[in-house]
Amino acid sequence: MATLEHDLVVIGAGPGGYIAAIRAAQLGLNVACVEKEPALGGTCLRIGCIPSKAMLESSEHFWAATHDFARHGIKATGITLDLPTMLRRKDQVVTALTRGVDSLFKKNKVTRYQGHATLNGPGRIKIEAAKDPADLKAKFILIATGSKPAPLPGVELDGDLIGTSTEALAYPEVPKHLVVIGGGYIGVELGSVWRRLGAKVTVLEFLDRILFGLDSEIAADAKKLFEKQGLEFRLGARVTRARKQGGDCLVEYEGGEPIICDRVLLAVGRVPNTEHLGLESVGIQLHKKGMIPVNDHFATSAEGIFAIGDVITGPMLAHKAEEEGIACVERIVTGYGHVNYDAIPAVVYTQPEIGSVGKTEDQLKESGVEYKKGLFPFRANARARTLSQEEGKIKVLAHAKTDRLLGVHILGTHAGDLINEAATAIAFGASSEDLARTCHAHPTLGEALREAALGVANRSLNI
Ligand code: NAD
Repeated sequence: MATLEHDLVVIGAGPGGYIAAIRAAQLGLNVACVEKEPALGGTCLRIGCIPSKAMLESSEHFWAATHDFARHGIKATGITLDLPTMLRRKDQVVTALTRGVDSLFKKNKVTRYQGHATLNGPGRIKIEAAKDPADLKAKFILIATGSKPAPLPGVELDGDLIGTSTEALAYPEVPKHLVVIGGGYIGVELGSVWRRLGAKVTVLEFLDRILFGLDSEIAADAKKLFEKQGLEFRLGARVTRARKQGGDCLVEYEGGEPIICDRVLLAVGRVPNTEHLGLESVGIQLHKKGMIPVNDHFATSAEGIFAIGDVITGPMLAHKAEEEGIACVERIVTGYGHVNYDAIPAVVYTQPEIGSVGKTEDQLKESGVEYKKGLFPFRANARARTLSQEEGKIKVLAHAKTDRLLGVHILGTHAGDLINEAATAIAFGASSEDLARTCHAHPTLGEALREAALGVANRSLNI
């Protein structure tokens, strides 16, 4: 087999890998990307963010038609769910976007290999189990292999009734009773989808709160709203076992009676994909939690080999992986590349959404930083009223002495879009005064962010 040479070989075509490949090609490198799946885009595009957002959107329409239309003066009768069409639309969205990555590779002259890449000593990669078996040689190698759902001892995944987010994106019918293990991002997002489509949903969460890591006040408010939508949460409920029993599933947990249900969704976190990568052939040893150790420039202990995204430490978010991929290849080519970890937003795509950037109030208290806080409820925002989406609020946290923005946390409709303004402000080192003095168009939801920033100095105008 001939050995093919590239400047950079990226392993994995998720948002981290494919964006890094394109950026490196823009910077003039001869780039290849190896991906084992036929479709590009990784977990995010194929079986994660994109299909889940498609299902969230469709299920919100169904909920609106059955619950909200009437108050807008729209009488709709005979509304029924056509789940196969809903699932087909989701698949079409995924196909269009994954094919889009193929086109981007062609446009940027990134060579694509399909197969499983294994490191085979310094600067060498073997592609196996492949449509395109090959030996590759590269000056630089970037590992961007992402993550997969974490297993839980005692939970017997069968890829059908007891499954992960992958199965929960394609249940062939609405479960009568879905038990979700884990009250994190996936638990509340996919739990909400199936609740809106008619399932009874019980979320079993080990901790005494949901959405660990988000601002606790915002997460507590969100839990109340999700409960109003019919989601049931059992906190302090550590699941010890889940297995099939007859045609049903039996879930056992500490602190309550076992539950019999017809489907189980396991969502207790994700673990890095580092198996069969040949890391030992270049002397890379994993961190004890399974991540690949890297320095500030994403360099591993092996010369010329870098790693980004879910296989290294930090939040497992597509956009974090993208930033790291860009910074990594820019550093390789130009000597400079940087990720501002203080300005990486996080979004939970429930209804209403949750958007968050910077420090939480809990973190500020814990670290003893003096801060001021501005709060503004969406019920006092004119646009939210016109949308009949008055639930939630915005919290702006600023340094008590310098007024520099430290964190912004939003529970409310379109929080996922609104949070980007806050991320930009934090990235530019803005103060709450800067946000408060920026003219915001009226009537928009963004005015609520300005009002919360005004609230830091106790001078909100509309409350
Ligand atoms: P998560 O880490 O968000 O939440 C997992 C939850 O499971 C935790 O609250 C944990 O306490 C709980 N848990 C652990 N063991 C348990 C047990 N035995 N019984 C009951 N509860 C238990 O994980 P996730 O929801 O699986 O999401 C995985 C990753 O995917 C996250 O890192 C997240 O960042 C990412 N993700 C992001 C988005 C988004 O950006 N909107 C959406 C989905 C997933």
